[in-house]
Amino acid sequence: MLSELVLSEEGNMGRAFEYVIVGGGVAAGYAALEFARRGVSHAQLCIISEEPVAPYERPTLSKNFLLPESPARLPSFHTCVGANEELLTPQWYEEHGIELVLGTRVESADVGQKSLLTAAGETIQYEILIIATGAQAIKLEEFGVNESKAENVCYLRDLADANRLVDVMQSCTGGNAVVIGGGYLAMECAASLVTNKINVTMVFPEAHCMPRLFTPKIATYYEDYYESRGVKFIRGTILSSFEFDSNGKVTAVNLRDGSRIPADMVVVGIGIRPNTSLFKGQLAMEKGGIKVNGKFQTSNDSVYAVGDVAVFPVHLCGRIHRLEHVDSARKSAKHAVAAILEPDKTGEFEYLPLFYSKAFVFSWRFYGDNAGEAVHFGDYSGTTFGAYWINNGQLVGSFLEGGTEEEFEAIANATQLKPAVDDPTNAGMQGLNFALTI
Ligand code: FAD
Ligand code: NDP
Repeated sequence: MLSELVLSEEGNMGRAFEYVIVGGGVAAGYAALEFARRGVSHAQLCIISEEPVAPYERPTLSKNFLLPESPARLPSFHTCVGANEELLTPQWYEEHGIELVLGTRVESADVGQKSLLTAAGETIQYEILIIATGAQAIKLEEFGVNESKAENVCYLRDLADANRLVDVMQSCTGGNAVVIGGGYLAMECAASLVTNKINVTMVFPEAHCMPRLFTPKIATYYEDYYESRGVKFIRGTILSSFEFDSNGKVTAVNLRDGSRIPADMVVVGIGIRPNTSLFKGQLAMEKGGIKVNGKFQTSNDSVYAVGDVAVFPVHLCGRIHRLEHVDSARKSAKHAVAAILEPDKTGEFEYLPLFYSKAFVFSWRFYGDNAGEAVHFGDYSGTTFGAYWINNGQLVGSFLEGGTEEEFEAIANATQLKPAVDDPTNAGMQGLNFALTI
């Protein structure tokens, strides 16, 4: 079925497509490439995105986009360059007859009627819908902190946020930034701020950074380096209020432990919330996301969900998961398209979770599940080190900093195989050799 003009029950003019993707981020870009590769032809597919630009590699926003010299700018980081695939420029979508409806929010969805209503008042009908709406940053206001929309308080989720962060950063050279949070975003932004010659203080409630993944030993390694680059850490407390000048700009942050830190700018990275509200009460939800099966199909046969919103079975971990990482967004999108177009030939999604980060001179990857006991290996005073997680006598997770491509591949392969580990200490002593010889 090609796109056609339709009149909705309410009398709105609209269009109908065989396949519609709501959301135009990472997962949408990879889904589009997969649809094109599998021969979906002109006017069968429509992508509706609130953002005004074609899908891009969101991870660039906290890394090369923030460099003081030769920063990355579109079109260089449209999907799917992050996985060394084609660069899908707006022209690519045009050439492939994929309808990109940009700068347009979907305001409501009716999965019974298979229709979406956009903010422009258009009704778009579908045979099959893929939900790829990603997530939004959790705001400090949710913790009772009044930020009064101060122009020097920055969040980072999309291109508009990144442009604003760059403007604020450029007006603060030599000044003080407070980074709220100790997770992925905070660690990467703190490094970028330092590279831009801004003094950084990080504030987070836990005892060390990246508490959900890093062991204290791994965290200490990175924190020591950050400190050597001038970053100050304030652990075990959270922000209680801001101080503003007469122009409404933040001038200082007050912490719950009673301390006060002068600030020329603030960056907030305290987690995200998946964008699922369009489908509340219409699709089964779990763990804060949209529940799907191993083919990314939701509780409604005609609706699939991928990327940050999807809660899917991760067989390797033996439970369902919602993952907030780019590798799973890319691969879940491709798998869903395969399942839609060739249901009989497409099996369950067999996924090895991959998380990674790059900041300063560092580059690490984690594969699998960080359950059970962690054993460290390598030189924690040098540049290459790691850890294995052993659960119920099996290797379930592996972390490596500074590895070569072959070494990263070796820990991935070993983790995928879940080998028995009788003696965790010995595995740690063997270090990378343990993975290389599996
Ligand atoms: P998104 O890429 O967020 O796309 C969702 C899209 O849907 C957005 O364009 C949004 O505007 C649109 N949308 C939402 N609601 C509507 C609506 N109602 N109507 C229309 N459009 C809508 N992961 C890693 O593994 N490694 C990294 O280094 C890394 N770095 C990151 C850096 C930053 C700054 C951020 C924010 C995330 C990073 N991530 C990283 C996470 C990764 O980018 C996400 O997991 C990934 O983008 C999820 O893809 P997605 O398509 O599900 O959602
Ligand atoms: P994360 O969930 O990774 O980290 C948020 C951190 O902030 C947690 O450590 C959390 O603690 C802490 N926190 C929660 N509330 C407060 C508070 N009131 N004050 C101070 N700290 C608080 O989210 P991020 O914001 O770092 O990242 C946003 C999204 O972007 C995530 O989906 C992330 O995966 C993604 N991203 C991924 C990157 C990567 O993979 N390399 C890079 C950048 C972003 P607690 O754990 O106790 O809740």
